[in-house]
Amino acid sequence: MRPVRPPHRHPSRLSRRQVLTGLFAAGVGAGACSLLGAGGLLLVGLDRLRHPPAQPTATITPLPPPTLTPAPPPLISREAWGGLPPDHNAANEPGFYGPDNPEGWREYATPVTATYQTIVLHHSVIYRGNDYATMQEIQRAHRQTRGWADVGYHFMVGKSGDLFAGRPMTVRGTHVEGYNTGSLGVCLLGNLNQETVTDAQWNAVQVLLNWLVPYLGVSCLATHRDFNPQTECPGANAIALAAALARAFGLTPGTGCYLPPATATAAPALCTCGGHPV
Ligand SMILES: [Zn+2]
Repeated sequence: MRPVRPPHRHPSRLSRRQVLTGLFAAGVGAGACSLLGAGGLLLVGLDRLRHPPAQPTATITPLPPPTLTPAPPPLISREAWGGLPPDHNAANEPGFYGPDNPEGWREYATPVTATYQTIVLHHSVIYRGNDYATMQEIQRAHRQTRGWADVGYHFMVGKSGDLFAGRPMTVRGTHVEGYNTGSLGVCLLGNLNQETVTDAQWNAVQVLLNWLVPYLGVSCLATHRDFNPQTECPGANAIALAAALARAFGLTPGTGCYLPPATATAAPALCTCGGHPV
């Protein structure tokens, strides 16, 4: 398969929209990737105008056609990367989901094969020297800074090519504001505004999708920014590759397939008519 050739970008050719995106990419409260404050991201945006990120060199590697029931790829378990169990006293994801607690930890009532239509790509922004330390830092930031019960993503892809298990697919993620329910979060480790996707990381993303796409029956691959335009996530170097990656797996790029699943409803009030509930 041909190498992906992302569009060339030159600072003098940045569109008005790109300039505004750089200047106003505050992303405060938007999603899991915006770990810097508004001031920090403003500086990042200006810096990108002067020094646009290096263009990615990754290519899409041909893989065997997916089978109907492919085996999952090797995953680094939560225990192996040093993950903590969920904190169900978390401030912004308290307790368990229900009619009176829509923000709680939500275990889907449907099987995962009937839950997801869209996979959402992210980058972690932060990187702490190696994949394992970065995994622990992401979980710490999501629990302590964001106030969520657990790491927000379902899967993470290390620079080494290792695949890391996040929260279970049976549980709603916290990674894309307003669209968490029914979307699966996949995060590439690193700041992909400044760093390129490594060859091992790019290959691992495709190994993961080669399992997830047929297993879950998803139809779309979106970037975080597709859903929340105020964020730069998953970074210019991943955004440049996302559409080609989607098409390589027969997926539609973007948010067009997102279907918000049904929400829980309160139990019907019992009407005691003649002494018998109706
Ligand atoms: Zn993101």
